Amino acid sequence: MTIDIGIQASSLATAAAPPRLHEPPALLLATDLDGTFLAGDVADRQQLYQTITRRTDIALVYVTGRGLEAVLPLLADPTLPRPHYIICDVGATVVDGETLQAVQPLQGAIESLWPGEQPVSSAVADHPGLLRQDVPQQRRCSYFCEAQAVDRELRAIVASIGCDLLFSAGRYLDVLPRGVDKGHTLRALVQYLGVAPGRVLVAGDTLNDLSMYREGFNGVCVGEAEHGLVEATRGLGHVLHAQRPGCGGILEAIAHFDLLDARTLAAEPGVPEGKSRLVIVYHRLPYEETEVDGRLVRRPHRSPNGIIPTLLSFFADGREGAWVAWSDRSPDHPDYQSHPAVDRERYPRLRTALVPLDEADIDIFYRRFSKEAFWPLLHTFWERAQFREDHWQVFLRVNRAFAEASAAEAAPGATVWIHDYNLWMVPAFLRELRPDLVIAFFHHTHFPSADVFNVVPWRREIVGSLLQCDYIGFHIPRQVENFVDVARGALPVKTLARTSCAPRFLTYGCAVGLDRYSHRIEAGGREVRLGAHPVGLDVARVRRLLDTPEAAQRIAALRDSLGGRRLLFSVERLDYTKGTLEKLLAYERLLETSPELHRKISLTVVCVPASRRMVIYRELQTQIEQVVGRINGRFSQVHWTPLQFFFRPLPFEELVAWYAVADIMWITPLRDGLNLVAKEYVAVQGASKGSGIVLLSEFAGVAAELKGALLTNPHDIGDLLTQVRHAIGLRRHEARSRLRQMYEIVCHNDIERWGREFLAAAERDAVVGASA
Ligand code: UDP
Repeated sequence: MTIDIGIQASSLATAAAPPRLHEPPALLLATDLDGTFLAGDVADRQQLYQTITRRTDIALVYVTGRGLEAVLPLLADPTLPRPHYIICDVGATVVDGETLQAVQPLQGAIESLWPGEQPVSSAVADHPGLLRQDVPQQRRCSYFCEAQAVDRELRAIVASIGCDLLFSAGRYLDVLPRGVDKGHTLRALVQYLGVAPGRVLVAGDTLNDLSMYREGFNGVCVGEAEHGLVEATRGLGHVLHAQRPGCGGILEAIAHFDLLDARTLAAEPGVPEGKSRLVIVYHRLPYEETEVDGRLVRRPHRSPNGIIPTLLSFFADGREGAWVAWSDRSPDHPDYQSHPAVDRERYPRLRTALVPLDEADIDIFYRRFSKEAFWPLLHTFWERAQFREDHWQVFLRVNRAFAEASAAEAAPGATVWIHDYNLWMVPAFLRELRPDLVIAFFHHTHFPSADVFNVVPWRREIVGSLLQCDYIGFHIPRQVENFVDVARGALPVKTLARTSCAPRFLTYGCAVGLDRYSHRIEAGGREVRLGAHPVGLDVARVRRLLDTPEAAQRIAALRDSLGGRRLLFSVERLDYTKGTLEKLLAYERLLETSPELHRKISLTVVCVPASRRMVIYRELQTQIEQVVGRINGRFSQVHWTPLQFFFRPLPFEELVAWYAVADIMWITPLRDGLNLVAKEYVAVQGASKGSGIVLLSEFAGVAAELKGALLTNPHDIGDLLTQVRHAIGLRRHEARSRLRQMYEIVCHNDIERWGREFLAAAERDAVVGASA
């Protein structure tokens, strides 16, 4: 009995208009994947993929023997066009390519013919020579077997349960619902969509695809197709036997059957190339811009951490380069330039390429979406994350603009170094525009494991984009391994090489430690290299600031005001990740339980408030203010205020003085990508021959690097209390030797080394070009 699902479907085709094909397509390409659409030389693949992506009159249907789950990784690959429909499981599954929902009623008709997995597998269980395949499969049971296993007895068993057999390539056996194969389901879909059969082109390379050619559509057996398929289709007038393999064969067939205007295939509009050998893509400009008397004035950043000066230093030798950043200046401003020079004397061949964004875009892309959706997620506070599809669309648009600006600046084979999660989708757009580039990406924040990251609705797109990079850097190995964990959940990942984290990083010694990590992986047909590069400090700048007479004055004044009390010090932004509230509660408990410390210690916290537009921080600020008031209300005495709380930033020059007089730097983030404050404190204490103690959260990335710090778990108030007591009681000689160890690390792994090592690693053995 054969039920023709095509007939059933076509009767409904007029009632339920297909969702996405409004116009009759000029071409419906129904293609097998492995050996066909995923094969061919790089240029042919690129030409076919880009033609399909850019033309709205081509409908793409994947027709594959893979199960749907095994097709999903391809949907994460931004270089592949997204199919309109997917026929998988050798025809037993048919879904919409966008929503991944079953195409009803076609799927229902197939379902009604399927006895169910258990009846089928039980029926053939005792037949000799069958080995069940361990791949995703639905409405079919797949086995490996030799040809002789497919005997009359097996056919009788399969017929008795109302199924068909399909044996291909001498080893694959599928038990399918009766009458179901790739060809039947494709015909049903074509009728359902109301597409004229003459506009359909089927493409394949193995006998598994034979049923598609039997439906009478235009067909192509691509070059290097299985001999059996070539033989079986020989003499069919509507089938072309192409010369070129994979996509090349499909392109030959499109021309042969005159399905599209050949000119639209030939030369895709190229992207103009630039001259820059190195392109930095950073959301921040390499200078600060202010308006003085209506004129735009540029001056160097006063940012203390030195990342921007380090990145700029790559251009000091006259290297031709570009810096892509957004600007909120209106292009209508009389002083506006789209490509202003940064500093003609110091970096003669460096120019900026501005991505103009209006206030609404900046608000969504930068202030709201990045902070409300990705920041909490990245820092494992996933329950705080708010996802909005309309904001994601703005994010994509802005990222595309960054990618286009970068593509226009980069010379052939140039290196493009992209910074941070705001620009996650740039690699996807950039790789499509410029397959020749070396794309490197550095994450400045923490990166969580799959349990947390997979909460993000666009995880496949983000992972697929990052895997277009040649090199991805994180601060510490744990973050690298978390990324690999996330990638592994999105597509097949092969680890090509692993390396030991010791001796540079802690292994089992802290919450973010790890013993080994993957530094070369293969995913989606590309090799991606990974590395751990904790950002360093401009130590020389810290020393210079410390050597000034103003610093000496400030330090003396602060010492004086302390009057011999021991100072615990904290510096952090107002953010729930920083553990400020947890620290204050632990301090309150310390004062409660250790009256002998009253008047002998004090805590100063510098807490930098967020922009007033960031509403999410207001509640936290109120909570902190209440606890600060309570502590001082409960414990203050004449001439002793136990807690000093600055709700404002201090200029770095002032911070340096505080670092110099603080006895214990108390850093308690619940989660932190790195934490530069710890390094700054070590640099100041080391340079001024102090004996300061770093009491550090084991959840800050820097904990894995800064051997010598005392570690604490800020999620546990008991441990916060124990460790702060331990720090207060630490002997001076132990504190000194710990500081010596930390100072050596901070001085050796400084910001200059960070930049140099990252770039060298990114450019070393870069596997350039589109996937092989
Ligand atoms: N900072 C500052 N003034 C302040 C508070 C902080 O200049 O009042 C600087 C601090 O010196 C450090 C940076 O802000 O360089 C904070 O960096 P960190 O990596 O510790 O934390 P993030 O803010 O990046 O999470």
